[in-house]
Amino acid sequence: MRLLAFALAGDPQRPRLGRRNADGVHDLTDALGSDLGTLIVSGVDPGDAAGPLVDPAEMALLAPLPRPGKIICVGLNYHDHCREQGIDPPAYPILFSKFANAVAHPGQVVVRPRATDRLDLECELGVVIGRRAKSVGREAAMEHVFGYTVVNDVTMRDLQREDSQWLRAKGSDGFAPMGPEVVTRDEIADPQRLGVRSSVNGETWQDSSTSEMVFDVATLVAFASRTITLEPGDLIATGTPAGVGHFQDPPRYLHDGDVMRCEIDGIGAIENRVADEQPRIDDHAVAAGLG
Ligand code: MG
Repeated sequence: MRLLAFALAGDPQRPRLGRRNADGVHDLTDALGSDLGTLIVSGVDPGDAAGPLVDPAEMALLAPLPRPGKIICVGLNYHDHCREQGIDPPAYPILFSKFANAVAHPGQVVVRPRATDRLDLECELGVVIGRRAKSVGREAAMEHVFGYTVVNDVTMRDLQREDSQWLRAKGSDGFAPMGPEVVTRDEIADPQRLGVRSSVNGETWQDSSTSEMVFDVATLVAFASRTITLEPGDLIATGTPAGVGHFQDPPRYLHDGDVMRCEIDGIGAIENRVADEQPRIDDHAVAAGLG
C-alpha cells in the first residue's frame, strides 16, 4: 500500500489522506480522517477503505507525517559515507534527533538560514514505526515497522563542525523534507537492497544502496528501542551514503535556487528548492544605523 497526504487546489489549508492504487490516488479522508499518524496509532487497516479518485492536477503533496512524535536520526551509518571521510564505521549506532519543526513537504522551499554558508543534503531511507517497540530484539524488530519513506537530512556543515553535537546544524525549520508517500513494509521485499540517490539541479551527488548500511533497519529499531520506547508514527532516518556535497573534491554546497532531489527505489522521490533567508526587518534597521 502506498499512503500519502495531500491538499486540493481549492482547499490548500486542509490536509487529506490518500492511497495510491494502480488507477490513481483515492481520497480516504471521509472514511479514515486526514492524518496518517493518527491512523497508524489507531491500528486500523487502510487497505479496505474506499474513496473517490483525485484529479492529479488538483493535488499538492504534503509530508505524509506532518508531526512525528519523534524523528530519530542515525549518523555515520553507511560504509561508503565513512570511507569518504576516512573514518572507521562506529561500533554502535549514533543516534540524534530532529523535531517536528524540521518537517517539510515535497516541493516546499527549504530556507537556507543566514547562519550558514555550507548547506548540504543527505538522502535517507525513512522508517515509520507502526507498533510500539520497547526493548524488542532484532528478530522481532521488523514487525514494528509500518513502512518507509524518503527523508532529506538537510545539514549546515559549518554549524555541525562548530558544535559538539548536531541538533543546531540539522534541526532548523524545514530541514527534514519527507515523502512523497509512505510505502508499507509488505511492498518492500528487502529494505537493505534499495538504490539511494540524490541530485542537485539534475546532477548526481549520491548514488548508492541501502546495502551499504553499517546497521540495518532491524538493528536500528532494536537498538533504539532498548532505551527509547518507539511509538506508532515515529520516524527513523537511517543515515546517508557517500556523495554529500561536503565530502566532494572540491566541497560543494547548496545555494539560492538549487533544486535538491532525493530518491529511493520502490518508494519515490522528493524535490525541494533552496532559497536564501531574507533579511529580517531588524537587519534593515541595523544597516540603516537604527539598530
Ligand atoms: Mg543524516
